[in-house]
Amino acid sequence: MSIHKKSKFEVNIMKQAGNIVALVHANMKEAVKEGITTKELDELAYKIIKENRADPTFLGYHGFPATICASVNEQVVHGFPSENVVLKQGDIISIDVGATYKGFVGDSAWTYPVGEISEDKKRLLKATQEALFAGLEHMKSNDRLENVAGAIEDVAKANNLGIVRQYGGHGVGRQMHEDPFVYNYRTNNPLVLERGMVIAIEPMLNLGCDDVEVLDDGWCVVTKDKKASAHFEHTVHVTDDGPEILTKLL
Ligand code: MG
Ligand code: MG
Repeated sequence: MSIHKKSKFEVNIMKQAGNIVALVHANMKEAVKEGITTKELDELAYKIIKENRADPTFLGYHGFPATICASVNEQVVHGFPSENVVLKQGDIISIDVGATYKGFVGDSAWTYPVGEISEDKKRLLKATQEALFAGLEHMKSNDRLENVAGAIEDVAKANNLGIVRQYGGHGVGRQMHEDPFVYNYRTNNPLVLERGMVIAIEPMLNLGCDDVEVLDDGWCVVTKDKKASAHFEHTVHVTDDGPEILTKLL
């Protein structure tokens, strides 16, 4: 495993990349409503990224065909945007997006409600977001990656939610996926966090069981029991004073 720590100069560029991603999410939050297609959301995200002189990181990544991953209800991650997927009242949609600016990547995901959603889905969204921020608390020098994972696991368990095991967070930099991999549960990871590490933390929690499977398109991950799943992600810089979230609006 080799972890590329970032200089102040590099972190500053990553902040700009992250800001563009945050801008996309601010627009997604407004645009998500009953009747819109996930293809329209994808086109809007593409336009915003390009207007800000960045490139959509996901487009073409291992052949991924779009700017955003748009994963509805039981879809966990990597859903293809489509003109055939029309959002309806009561859905939840996880939107994951990356932007590459001056060679550096920002990566962030958020799950949005479409209109009024069920109490269970509300609980899922609240707890998954809470898990993200509980994990983030430990993104400081001399803390341990294991504590990030443990904090996420504890929130998931306290809310009786399934934890997706096969996917997780990752280092971010010139590449979208760098070392280290971040499980969303304890694995006895010995890694001690150091200033300059930039890592995407991204719990994916389910209303039902942990188990997921990949659809025939080779990409879209769904829960095996077809119960809803949520995904919240920020790209975060480890500092001596605590987490610095790079994917929020400047
Ligand atoms: Mg992401
Ligand atoms: Mg990620």
